[in-house]
Amino acid sequence: MQADPGKALVVLSGGQDSTTSLYWALDRFGRDQVSAITFDYGQRHRFELECAARVASAAGVAQVCLPIDTFAAMGGDALTDPGVAVADGLDERSGLPNTFVPGRNLVFLTYAAAWAWPRRIGNLVTGVAQTDYSGYPDCRAATLQSLEQTLQLGMESEIRIHAPLMHRSKKDTVELAVALGALDALAETQTCYRGSRPPCGTCPACRLRARGFAEAGIADPLLVRYGVPQ
Ligand SMILES: [Zn+2]
Repeated sequence: MQADPGKALVVLSGGQDSTTSLYWALDRFGRDQVSAITFDYGQRHRFELECAARVASAAGVAQVCLPIDTFAAMGGDALTDPGVAVADGLDERSGLPNTFVPGRNLVFLTYAAAWAWPRRIGNLVTGVAQTDYSGYPDCRAATLQSLEQTLQLGMESEIRIHAPLMHRSKKDTVELAVALGALDALAETQTCYRGSRPPCGTCPACRLRARGFAEAGIADPLLVRYGVPQ
């Protein structure tokens, strides 16, 4: 299948990084060539799905939300299992945060490629990054390179995976969002692991986000909206 190298599909979760990556795709491919895909994987914080829809609307791109409830059925992680609270430290056995959903990004990108295939979309864009983050192994460059090759082989396609934030710090990501005109859209995003509105400010995701904005010297528009001091 000859995929169109000018078209892009962005995996949009409703978070800060996928939103910034969406605006990166708009800049690189042009608004008319970009669409977004969101996965309802049984995440406890249902508000994320609303955020993704609002971000897509703010960016002016078409968005589809696909249901994949298998992760919630498996349970065992803090993002899908109501019986697991978000822990601040690392899990003793895995050495990873208990917010790690095994295989999540692999499955997302595989489904995204399956969606892209009949539509002849030649590029997938994801907001994953390996710097400054929680150490999720499916967010690393080597994983994505390997998956890209697997998808090309398995779908006989020239599809490419782009991760524009892969080697950027949180500070760099905030500065990129400003440069791309994505700051207003970041007011619609959801980062907090506890799903709080306004954000709890104390969970690892909130702290990481706050540090990025502080280091960039930019006010977080989400906190501005809620009148939270920064
Ligand atoms: Zn939080």
